[in-house]
Amino acid sequence: MPVFDGSTLRRHHRTTADAVVIGTGAGGAVAAAELAAAGWNVVMLEEGGYFTGQHLSGSVGFAFSHLYRDGGLVTTIGRPPIIVPLGRCVGGTTTINSGTCYRSPDFVLQQWERDFGLEGATDLAEHYAAIERDLHIKPVPDTLYGPANGRIQEAVERVLGWRGSRIPRNEDGCLATGRCAFGCPSDGKLAMNVSKVPEAIASGATLWVHTRVRRILLDRKRAVGVVADALTPEGRSTGVQLDVTAALVVVAAGAFHSPALLLASGVRHPWLGRNLHLHPATRVVAVFPEPIRGWREVPQAYNIDEFIPQGVFIQGQFVPPEVQAAAVPGFGHTYVERMRAFERMASFGALISDESSGRVWSLGTSARPVAWYRLGRRDLRKLVFAIARTAEAFFAAGAVEVYSGVGALPVLRHRGEIAQLESARVRPSQLDIMAFHPMGTARSGSAHFSVCDPWGRVHGYRGLAVADASLFPTSNRINPQLTIMALVRRNAREWIARGG
Ligand SMILES: Cc1cc2nc3c(=O)[nH]c(=O)nc-3n(C[C@H](O)[C@H](O)[C@H](O)COP(=O)(O)OP(=O)(O)OC[C@H]3O[C@@H](n4cnc5c(N)ncnc54)[C@H](O)[C@@H]3O)c2cc1C
Repeated sequence: MPVFDGSTLRRHHRTTADAVVIGTGAGGAVAAAELAAAGWNVVMLEEGGYFTGQHLSGSVGFAFSHLYRDGGLVTTIGRPPIIVPLGRCVGGTTTINSGTCYRSPDFVLQQWERDFGLEGATDLAEHYAAIERDLHIKPVPDTLYGPANGRIQEAVERVLGWRGSRIPRNEDGCLATGRCAFGCPSDGKLAMNVSKVPEAIASGATLWVHTRVRRILLDRKRAVGVVADALTPEGRSTGVQLDVTAALVVVAAGAFHSPALLLASGVRHPWLGRNLHLHPATRVVAVFPEPIRGWREVPQAYNIDEFIPQGVFIQGQFVPPEVQAAAVPGFGHTYVERMRAFERMASFGALISDESSGRVWSLGTSARPVAWYRLGRRDLRKLVFAIARTAEAFFAAGAVEVYSGVGALPVLRHRGEIAQLESARVRPSQLDIMAFHPMGTARSGSAHFSVCDPWGRVHGYRGLAVADASLFPTSNRINPQLTIMALVRRNAREWIARGG
């Protein structure tokens, strides 16, 4: 199998390709699979290691040290600092994600086309359908849909009269181990490590793991290849270098690392690194009077759709006790008693589509990103609204306590306290915010506002394209991976048709 490990490379190595793809996440894997299927000689370069079910037990500790970047603690600077977990392994963040696969709402795609010049954004149906077919995307079936999600669905739709639906996921043979975010031990989740990356390899692509691209080589305004450092499995440079010469350089290192790499390589555009959106989120935990045993079902199986037009989406997010522990308030005896109730807990993520935006820079010439982000007042209110609606759904489902994640009012004991939460003066620092969907830092569309043209090629440069979440002109208002894949599939076909 043409998979090489940078950590075993003993001397400088040079190779050539038609296309070199940097990163193997949602965008990079699809780009590589498309180009290789068209007969292009493709080299994929991935900073992390290659893990599939045979290496994975669902251990949280193993995942943070081997699959996540910086132990899962990549953080923005700004107000408040926000943890943004990123994958650093073959499959990128798809290897550690929840498997939720939504098409972006039509009104978002229409806005991208109309206001940002992303031509053809409204014609993605064919590409969505192809990815849905390839990755077996379908709503969670009855066999994997357990009592926790069912109970909340009942409350949302019958008691509160809100809209909601089962989540479509990329799975074939899911065993509901509840470990999606820590590397699927059964390979039932069809993340890129077990789907598009092997597909690219089967079509003739070569993969280098433990290989970090340091610089894109530019000959005036044409990309001609990359320089990469071979890494130890722990991620330290071995001092050995890999050079790849290619007619097309595809940057798919994610919305933090792609702009940083482009900047460090000397690419300049006023919007490069700006327009960072994150979908700020917080986890809300409910305690029920009787056992829920959420670990027996798919952790992210139900979505409250009612508030999507307002930029709020609320979805299942059950996590193992070692992760849940951080969202449970209190200390000492009280804390221990609360954790004892783990089998009675359910948790949902309250996410918002952010109007606030941030910026990514590269640290000197190192291609390491530094991200700044400030949560604006309107988004802060929206997040409190999202937490309040999540609590409302939990109480309607019979919860006896809700842990809000808001410092000012961490424990809600009845529905009446929700109004108190919504009228409280909440500061950003009082919220426990994380974000899972960085996007927008090399956006695609017309030259006025966008770093890339509508097909992901960097404006003003030849042989240089971006293929990841950086391309989104705005927040796409829902989980992004399917739209990244569909957009990149379409773009790669355009590059093939035009020879680059
Ligand atoms: C816990 C969690 C759960 C999530 N759940 C969902 C979900 O259910 N549904 C959904 O739609 N989205 C989800 N997401 C987000 C989704 O996974 C990402 O939006 C998506 O994977 C981003 O794709 P990408 O191609 O932009 O980058 P990534 O998938 O992050 O891939 C980038 C790759 O580039 C590599 N790389 C970076 N720099 C270099 C370099 N210099 N040289 C070589 N390689 C490099 C990285 O190691 C990485 O493998 C989740 C995210 C997290 C953290």
